[in-house]
Amino acid sequence: MITSQTSFIALIGNPVNHSLSPIMQNAAFQYLGLDLIYIAIPCKDKDLKLVINSLEKINCKGLNITIPYKQKVFDLCDEISPVAKTLKAINTLKKNSDQKWSGTNTDVEGFIYPLKDLNLRKKEAIVLGSGGAARSVIQGLINLNFSKFTIISRNEKSLYELMKNFGNQSQIKGLLNNDSQINNLIEETDLIVNTTPVGMKTKSNSANNVLPYGEEFWKSLNSKTIVYDLIYNPAPTPLLKYCDKKGCRTIDGTQMLIAQGAKSLSFWTNGLEVPFEIMSNALKKHL
Ligand code: NAP
Repeated sequence: MITSQTSFIALIGNPVNHSLSPIMQNAAFQYLGLDLIYIAIPCKDKDLKLVINSLEKINCKGLNITIPYKQKVFDLCDEISPVAKTLKAINTLKKNSDQKWSGTNTDVEGFIYPLKDLNLRKKEAIVLGSGGAARSVIQGLINLNFSKFTIISRNEKSLYELMKNFGNQSQIKGLLNNDSQINNLIEETDLIVNTTPVGMKTKSNSANNVLPYGEEFWKSLNSKTIVYDLIYNPAPTPLLKYCDKKGCRTIDGTQMLIAQGAKSLSFWTNGLEVPFEIMSNALKKHL
C-alpha cells in the first residue's frame, strides 16, 4: 500500500514510455517488502539539471538513467564509481551519506549476462552506435576477452571520443557507417551488437520497421554470426526478426535489462539479494 512513508525510485530519460523497468522493479520491491515504488519520468534535455537536482532534495531514494542522458548526468553527481568513470556513462544513482547523488554503471554486468556461457574468448565483434550503452558493451567485450572489435557509427565526433576513452587500444577500431570495409567485416564477424535505438518502440512510433544503417548494410550477414540487440521492446525487434530469418542466433535486450536492473536494485539497497526470477516472471507476464 502507498502511504505517507512511501518513497520512490525513478527512471529518467527521453523517451521512457517504452521501458519495462517499472514492471520488473515494482515486482521486486513488492517481493522484498520494500516501502518503495518505481516510476518513469520523461525529461527534456533542457530540464535535466533541474530535475536531477530537485530529486536530490526530496524522498527519491535512487534513479536509473537511460537514453540519451547516461553521459550528461556525469556532472550532476557528487561521487562516481570507478567503472562509471572508466566508461564515462552512468545508469544508476543513489544518495550518499551527505544526501548527494552517487553514480555507478550496472550495464556492463547486464550486457555480459547472456554471453558469459557462450565461450567467446578470442572471437571478433562489431558494435553499432557510439553512445552511452556502446561504452558498456565495449567494456563487456574487453572483460569477455574478445580479440578484436569494430565500432561502427554515423557520428564522427562521438566515435572519436569513444575511441579516445578506451585509450585507442589496438584491438578496437572505429569506422563510419559508410566505410567500404564494412561488408567484409559483417561477413566475417562472430558477434554483432546493436546499441543504436533503431527499431525501438516509442509512443509516436509503434512500428519502427527499419534496420540500423538500412537493409543494404546487412546484405553480407552470415548465419554463423550471433546478433545481439540491446533493445527489448518490441520483442523481437525488426533487426532480430531479419537476422533470425537469415539463420543467425539472436539475443534481445531482456536478459541484459533484468541483470542490470538486479544490480541497480542491489546498489540502492546496499547489497540486498535480488530476486532475478521474480523480475523475469513479471516481464514475461507483461510481454
Ligand atoms: P545514446 O547514448 O543516445 O546512443 C545512441 C547511439 O545510437 C548514438 O551513437 C547515436 O548516434 C546512434 N543512433 C541514434 N539514432 C540512430 C539512427 N537512426 N541511425 C544510426 N545510429 C543512430 O543511447 P544509449 O543510452 O546508448 O541507448 C541506446 C539503445 O540501447 C536504446 O534503445 C536503449 O533503450 C538500449 N539499451 C538497452 C539496455 C538493456 O538493458 N537492454 C541497456 C542500455 C541501453 P547520434 O549521436 O548520431 O545520434
